[in-house]
Amino acid sequence: MRPKILKISRVIVSLFFLTITAFLFVDFAETLSASLINGVTWIQFVPSLVKFITLTGFLTLGFLVVIIATLLFGRIYCSTVCPLGILQDVSSRISRFYTEKIRRRRNRYRFAEPQNLLRYSLLGITAVTFAFGSVFFLNLLDPFSLFGKMFSGLVRPVYYALNNITADIFYAFGLYTFYHVETRQMTILPLIYPALMLMLVVGLSLMRGRLYCNTVCPVGTLLGIISRYAMYRIEINDELCTRCADCSLNCKAQCIDLKNNEIDFTRCVGCFNCMDICSRQGIDYQNKWFPSRNKAPSEAVIREVCDADDADYAGDAGDAGNAAIPETSPEKDPAARASSDSGRRSFLFGLTSYFIGFSAASRVVRANGLQQEPDIRDDLDVEVTKPTTIPEDKQFPISPPGSVSLEHYNDACTACQLCVSACPTRVLQPSFLEHGFTGMMQPRMDFHASFCNFDCVVCTEICPTGAIQPLTMAEKHLTQIGVVRLELDNCVVKTENTACGACAEHCPTQAVRMVPYQDGLTIPEILVEHCVGCGACEYICPTRPYRAIYIDGNEVHVKAEPPVIEELDYEEPEEDFPF
Ligand code: SF4
Ligand code: SF4
Ligand code: SF4
Repeated sequence: MRPKILKISRVIVSLFFLTITAFLFVDFAETLSASLINGVTWIQFVPSLVKFITLTGFLTLGFLVVIIATLLFGRIYCSTVCPLGILQDVSSRISRFYTEKIRRRRNRYRFAEPQNLLRYSLLGITAVTFAFGSVFFLNLLDPFSLFGKMFSGLVRPVYYALNNITADIFYAFGLYTFYHVETRQMTILPLIYPALMLMLVVGLSLMRGRLYCNTVCPVGTLLGIISRYAMYRIEINDELCTRCADCSLNCKAQCIDLKNNEIDFTRCVGCFNCMDICSRQGIDYQNKWFPSRNKAPSEAVIREVCDADDADYAGDAGDAGNAAIPETSPEKDPAARASSDSGRRSFLFGLTSYFIGFSAASRVVRANGLQQEPDIRDDLDVEVTKPTTIPEDKQFPISPPGSVSLEHYNDACTACQLCVSACPTRVLQPSFLEHGFTGMMQPRMDFHASFCNFDCVVCTEICPTGAIQPLTMAEKHLTQIGVVRLELDNCVVKTENTACGACAEHCPTQAVRMVPYQDGLTIPEILVEHCVGCGACEYICPTRPYRAIYIDGNEVHVKAEPPVIEELDYEEPEEDFPF
């Protein structure tokens, strides 16, 4: 049956997208390739649109595919691809399972008036601020970024903890299938917004289905405006509808108005539940651009007495509930069946084309063999007894390699936190206000928590918005995201007259080197032009509370001088056998 196929297809595709998108944000073992990650994020509306503006090119046209699909079929993006939308369906489905068990049967939805003032205002504010170059409201409201913040900030730690507990259990039996994942320090402030939004989104979905999608989400509102003109639209078939209200009671968008015999298609999220539940084929998915001319008159359908549970819906159905209906069915009419089959074929063809599109965008970019660095601090053997007194003087926050400049980064990062989840060293952490109020929650480089691996380009490969642009390994090796600063009055060599040199030992470019000091000791000296700002020195420096060596961000990234390669004293072996 067509509605069944539509609904089953929708459920399969949506579960695929939800599972894989959720996994992107918790995967610590780098299971997914960069090309797969890019394929999944390519079709996400806001990241793709922002990437198109920042980078341009075919690989950024996912948003256009979403617009075309909406123009053809309505908001199927909201029911199949958007992870936040599908999350709402899952939470309301789970809650429904339990309420059904407790109260036997409970339909929670009924038609509700649209909150147009709120939804168009939020869309307007988001669009205007974006047009003026600010992604602040996208950062707050874009469903993909919101989903990312929730999963990266709230679900990922739980996933890690479960993994570590499982690893402990396996270790106890001498099995080493799982391994411990190190969790870095976490700050609470960047988690407040995702936690509040998670409560809001799930709470609304339990009470009012897709109310969030139809009042708050700017993507939903924009696609709703487009879907008003869609080729295929869901509408009530006056002739077959008995006003039993089954459809309206199961519409999570609360957009089926039986009193006026209308469906507010701007709010319909294309779940096909109404078509599936209607036993009388009273809901059509019609081609409105090219209406079928040979549509046959419908055959008789036996009018059924509605469920006793539906009686409470009489107010919505009104007098129309008794309207006479011509009794016809396409099932029994060859002409109508042919028309229905052709509609089904073209719809399924369109749906298939839509989902094939995103996979074509995958880029084959993946550096191999990136391993998580061991916690090098474990190796440190410097005794520090005196607290440092001179604060680090950082002028600018540090944006990740590939982000070009703070301005570009702040203008293009929607704080989805995908890079935070993917960074193998965990140096990328969600910020609170380090990038300013409008850059709230945009990831920052936290060199007190970790350092940027010299031989890693993971974040540059997977950022879906172009805030972090692709870099080859050679480019990364010469990209200076910040420069090293040295405060010798904090350095233990000077304050405690003891040997150290951890910074020079861990600098991958030898931008820090040890030079003779006193009492046979050596003290650090910096060569800023060779520094790439990876933060290895700051991370390893043992002084507290302030580091003697630290990185100050570059407002605009520049090219560093190539690393210093020291010539080793090496004697050529004699060519001939010496005796
Ligand atoms: S309305 Fe927004 S949050 Fe809801 S499904 Fe659509 S894009 Fe996602
Ligand atoms: S920089 Fe990170 S948080 Fe910002 S858009 Fe890119 S992946 Fe998402
Ligand atoms: S390049 Fe640096 S910041 Fe980016 S993922 Fe690798 S280690 Fe993390």
